[in-house]
Amino acid sequence: MGAISPGPLGGRFKRGAGEPVYCSFCGLNQHEVETMIAGPVRTAICDRCVDQCAEIVAAKRAEKEATAAAGANDD
Ligand SMILES: [Zn+2]
Repeated sequence: MGAISPGPLGGRFKRGAGEPVYCSFCGLNQHEVETMIAGPVRTAICDRCVDQCAEIVAAKRAEKEATAAAGANDD
């Protein structure tokens, strides 16, 4: 619990004086979530928000693909 991983941009928090890292999306801190991914500046996202974002992205992609498929059928 409470692991902080560098994000895809290699973000890292300066580990100052036991200061917890908070998720920029839901506001939970590193001790309340399984994994916290650090952004390039003072931003971070927790595993729960990553899961939610992944669902939103997947839904958007499915929507786009359905629209594209429907458009192809019109021709
Ligand atoms: Zn979060």
